[in-house]
Order: sequence, then C-alpha cells, then structure tokens
Amino acid sequence: MQVKSDAFLRCSKCRKVLFSKEFERNLRVCGSCGHHHRISADERIRITFDEGTFQELDRGLRSCDPLEFPDYREKLEKGAKATGRHDSVIRGTAMIEGRPVSAAVADFAFMGGSMGSVAGEKIARTIELAIERRIPAVIFTATGGARMQEGLLSLMQMAKTAAACRKASDEGVPFVCVFTDPTMAGVLASYASLADVILAEPGALVGFAGARVSAQAGVGRVPDNFQTSEYNFEHGMIDAVVQRKDLRSTLARVVDHLSANL
Ligand SMILES: [Zn+2]
Repeated sequence: MQVKSDAFLRCSKCRKVLFSKEFERNLRVCGSCGHHHRISADERIRITFDEGTFQELDRGLRSCDPLEFPDYREKLEKGAKATGRHDSVIRGTAMIEGRPVSAAVADFAFMGGSMGSVAGEKIARTIELAIERRIPAVIFTATGGARMQEGLLSLMQMAKTAAACRKASDEGVPFVCVFTDPTMAGVLASYASLADVILAEPGALVGFAGARVSAQAGVGRVPDNFQTSEYNFEHGMIDAVVQRKDLRSTLARVVDHLSANL
C-alpha cells in the first residue's frame, strides 16, 4: 500500500484513493472493491475478542537459531521490531461474546507468518489448553508456510500440531480455524486443514505450492481464482467465506454452538 499522505492511501488492489479514517473504520477493507488488506495480530485480537479479555501466554518464547542459518538472527530482530513480539504467533485465552476460547493469531509481518519451532509450539499449546479446559480453540492463520531457516525442525511442527488436532478430535474438543491472507504450504498442509470448522476472509490466498512453483511443476493452465478462499470454498475445503466485518459475530455463533456439549 502506498501512503500518499496521512489522510489518504491507495488500495493495493483497485488502486483507488481512499480516506485513511474511513479505511480504518472499515477494518482495512477497501470501500470501493472490497479487498481485505492484511491487519496485524494485535488489531485482529482487538476486533475479534471481547474488550480486555485477551490474556497473552508464552510471550517470552523465542527461537534459538538451531541451524545457525545465515541472516536468521537479523530476520528475527526485524520481525520483532515490526510486531513487538518474538515470533509470528501470539497465543492466549480470551472471551468471544462471553464464551471462553483458547486462541492464537499469526502476524504476517513477522517473517511472513512462517511456522518455526516457536510458532508450532504455541499452536500445539493453544490446542492442548483447549483440551485441558474443555473450551474451543480458535486460530487465525496468516502465513507463507514452514520457516526454512529452521529446516527439518520447522517441518516437525507440522506433525506436532497435527498430533494436537488429533488429540482434540479424540477428546471431542472443537477447533475453529480462520484463514486470512495468505494461508499456504506447511501450515495449510498441517493443523489449518484439520480444523472442525474452517472460515476464510474473502480473496485470501489459500494453497499448498505458490503460483511460481505450480507453474514450474507444469500443472498447466489454472482458473483465474485458483488458490483463493472462494476457489477452496467451491471445492469443499472451506466451510464459509466471511467478510471481516461479520467475522466476530460468525465466530461467536460457531463457538456458542460448539461449546454447548463441552
Ligand atoms: Zn480497492
């Protein structure tokens, strides 16, 4: 998004000039074309959960750069500066219209929301706490996938988070996942797709291999809306595509319904 001045900005999709105040009032959704621009995890928490109820857990967890991957420490520091956090996932407990949930929210501004050992551990703990307290788990994804700087350790998070989902399923504890732009690769291929109810914001990029990798793999021509929320909804991978302004009330209804038998 190109900021022209404090009062105006330009939609990154339709290029129309928007009033900043109106854009913020619209929860960063373009009033002209409806494009849902990315929002920070903190903003997501503010607009989703009952005011003042989010209690953050594991804020101090941080990666120890196990492979001494080139430039990883610098990238972690940059992500910390951009988000005020030590990793891409924020987790905690919260209420949504009076119902308690175990929640996690990813922030794309921290290394593309990638899942390394810290993000994976926080997701697993979010689901484990839901099982322990018998409350629904609610997770918002925003990620390019696994974090290559942690190599195999990041891929292990796929198995770990998937195992937590299985345990929740065995225990009858519900898990709701909300896909936001983008939800890709190792995250889509692990816990995200294993949720009992999957909601998605309109126009979010949702897929396994990105467009460039798909092209290299010679998959041929793909539909125009390939790897969007809408395409995945049409093919049964997503339960509902929900406008950002309606997400809180929709989530509250789903959580209320799923909490009934816990
Ligand atoms: Zn627009």
